[in-house]
Amino acid sequence: MKRLAILGATGSIGTQTLQVVDAFPGRFDVVLLAGHSNWQLLLKQAEKYQPACVVVTEPAAFARFQQENTDPKLVVLSGMEGVLKALEQFPVDMMVGAMSGAAGIEPTLKALELGIDLALANKETLVSGGSLVRKAQQKSGAKIIPVDSEHSAIFQCIEPGSSCLNKILLTASGGPFRTWEKKALYQVTPQQALKHPNWSMGRKITIDSATLMNKGLEVIEANWLFDVDYDHIQVLVHPQSVIHSMVEYGDGSVLAHLGRADMRIPIQYALTWPERQGNPFPKLDFTQLAGLEFYAPDFEKFPALALAYAVGRTGKSAPAVLNGANEVAVAAFLQEQIGFMDIPALVQWVVEQHIPVEIESFAHLMELDRWARQKAQQFVQQHRQ
Ligand code: NAD
Ligand code: MG
Repeated sequence: MKRLAILGATGSIGTQTLQVVDAFPGRFDVVLLAGHSNWQLLLKQAEKYQPACVVVTEPAAFARFQQENTDPKLVVLSGMEGVLKALEQFPVDMMVGAMSGAAGIEPTLKALELGIDLALANKETLVSGGSLVRKAQQKSGAKIIPVDSEHSAIFQCIEPGSSCLNKILLTASGGPFRTWEKKALYQVTPQQALKHPNWSMGRKITIDSATLMNKGLEVIEANWLFDVDYDHIQVLVHPQSVIHSMVEYGDGSVLAHLGRADMRIPIQYALTWPERQGNPFPKLDFTQLAGLEFYAPDFEKFPALALAYAVGRTGKSAPAVLNGANEVAVAAFLQEQIGFMDIPALVQWVVEQHIPVEIESFAHLMELDRWARQKAQQFVQQHRQ
């Protein structure tokens, strides 16, 4: 049995990971579950999957979990220290990185240091700490299998040892405002932005998908995962989300990955890789597809995408600053403190004030992240609606 640690177990990716576990009885052993504030769901998950350890990172939720837990054998830890300690004490074969945001960086680095293979959904970790992740991975030899649907698609289209790769075609649905006029975007409400046309996901990534910052983060993620430079990563708007991404080779062949918009497919592939296994999930019915469309992205209407490309090219600490600022911007938008188009404006304002430096350590990265968040808060105070 493959022993799993699932970080972010209560979220969209975490719960779908457990559905994949359910689909393969006897194949996975859930050893460790970690969640932040939803202690009720963590309790239910602990009862069902009987892990050796549960970590509740939010202090008040940890206290409630402790009160309600009736299993004396279950080890219950709190905070990020708890996550790190649990990874050290409870051996696993794979960690599913499904926390949202920069909170995923430290446990990802820890897992790699310990030589634990990663099924990585948490793209913010690669955007922000890509250089540290690469170093830790090279040192231990642990593998990173992407869970993000586009990157899973690319991973499946890049044949081992394949040469002559021309470019990556990273597909994007275009989000809920693809066909809107730019001036209407200034009036977008959180409720409107939280309605993604094709995917059901956590709140932060759903807003990122509406600004196209998500695609920008994915461009940087692809650069780190596949070592392909920014001139050879092309974003392609494909509203149907049937093709999850493609790879073009020098001979003109294009390999694509198609499937339903169901995250359980890339999650399962990461969990069972290098094997491919059948599952009972619904399959793509081509007779029901009206057509597949493709467009170039509108960089003017969605400045976050252009900004992410520029920041990715700058490299060093610039993507970490972009990521920290974006997390604050998204939270402020969801709290109706700033407008939708203030999100890219805020991120740009913070990035422009930053002089990129090499990231020397995790502590240094956290310092840069804090700086970006403080600057972003300053913008929020000045632009509060
Ligand atoms: P979500 O908001 O549904 O879940 C986030 C999880 O992280 C929850 O379990 C929560 O308890 C935990 N968490 C939140 N803040 C935390 C903190 N400060 N410390 C520790 N844990 C914390 O998010 P999601 O949609 O499942 O996305 C998770 C990650 O996967 C993100 O990085 C996202 O970009 C990536 N991703 C998600 C999807 C998707 O379809 N949902 C697709 C591709 C990539
Ligand atoms: Mg994606």
